[in-house]
Amino acid sequence: MGDSEKPLGLAPVTAQGSEMKTGNIPLVSLDPIFDSQIAKTRPGQAHFGGTGPFGATCGECPFLGYWRQICNASGDLVRTTKSQGCEKYFKLTGRHGPALAPGTDACRYFERREPKT
Ligand code: SF4
Repeated sequence: MGDSEKPLGLAPVTAQGSEMKTGNIPLVSLDPIFDSQIAKTRPGQAHFGGTGPFGATCGECPFLGYWRQICNASGDLVRTTKSQGCEKYFKLTGRHGPALAPGTDACRYFERREPKT
């Protein structure tokens, strides 16, 4: 089979132009939009970044920042601390995620923060 007869997009090519040995698994992206969302997603987000309204950021969402309750071994509340993580992530997973930058691209659970009156 000559080069002109090879099927397109089925085998990844290295920077030097030779085919990589990957068996039958193609390493070609089939959905560039999904790839972009994965690239925008930060640890601790409730869903993929960039799946919210166009241009919206976590800094505009009321789920960013919440009061984290600290309990002792008996389960009694001993104090609270302000978390800079996503409250929706905590509600969905039961785990506290890391702090998110306010400029992080919003996810599908984004809600517009009510303006202060
Ligand atoms: S948009 Fe809101 S719900 Fe989604 S990750 Fe950011 S803070 Fe959390």
